[in-house]
Amino acid sequence: MAEYAFFGGQIVPIEQAKISIMTHAFNYGTGCFEGLRAYWNEGQGQLYVFRMEEHYERLHDSSRVLRIELPYTAAELGEITLELLRKEGFRQDAYLRPLAYKADETIGVRLHDLTDAFAIFAVPFGRYLEQEEGAHVCFSSWRRMDDNIAPPRAKITGVYVNSALAKTDAILAGYDEALVLSHNGHVSEGSAENLFIVRGGQLITPPPSDNILEGITRDSIIELAREEMGLETVERPIDRTEVYICDEAFFVGTGVQVAAITQVEHRPIGEGVIGPIVSRLRELYFDVVRGNNDRYEHWCTPVYQRD
Ligand code: PMP
Repeated sequence: MAEYAFFGGQIVPIEQAKISIMTHAFNYGTGCFEGLRAYWNEGQGQLYVFRMEEHYERLHDSSRVLRIELPYTAAELGEITLELLRKEGFRQDAYLRPLAYKADETIGVRLHDLTDAFAIFAVPFGRYLEQEEGAHVCFSSWRRMDDNIAPPRAKITGVYVNSALAKTDAILAGYDEALVLSHNGHVSEGSAENLFIVRGGQLITPPPSDNILEGITRDSIIELAREEMGLETVERPIDRTEVYICDEAFFVGTGVQVAAITQVEHRPIGEGVIGPIVSRLRELYFDVVRGNNDRYEHWCTPVYQRD
């Protein structure tokens, strides 16, 4: 449980971080947010926030789309985050949720002439997807939001109704997660994670123009595959049946981390078990995020003072 939050410009006990039912963002989904993970390294006695600056730059981008004025730079948001984590004193993995939102208690759907607010809370966090080593997915009957409808490129609270519809239908139908198609029929992404497939030794992921969130884990995986495995990633549209016949498929995202997809709509992917490329990427990723790989130290911000 969270004990504190950053709310109203300061760190307060979580009980004091409350909004009214009249809040604009609650009524109309006019907020944007981020999701970051902090990883506890037991050997080093250190907590590391993963790619904090990039997450706060994306929050700035999302805010720009929603005409929200963030009163803090990405670097200042980072400082606030570290202060909150130190106050919580976590010695375990945690998830961070910064939110920038339209805070007025008023009726009227719009983006202009409204007051903005910013808050962060953090909670201890483990797995987001139980089946990280072998998920069974379906194609959702829901289509992905479109850049000219409600832009998935920005992490907007209201846009996540699309993700919630896809996720719940998939779970209630007995699957672990959904894959969502764009309006043009191309595979976009999972409900809250980006997709990669492997075909003939090549890594392939959908391009931003297929209405994905431009994921920070996606970017990290592209770099790790290139630098550590000599594998270039091709960004190109993916058809539904390419997922049926690919050799490996996997999700990436802050929550899901790197998770193998081993079945799609009752068809095994490859051998139907976790494949060699996703296995290696998982090892690399977990080493990097926990601060055990010096080459990627710049991605990991330590929370506590080093002795
Ligand atoms: N797509 C969607 C829709 C998401 O919500 C997320 C999680 N933020 C991702 C992809 C993965 O993005 P990231 O790696 O930046 O967490």
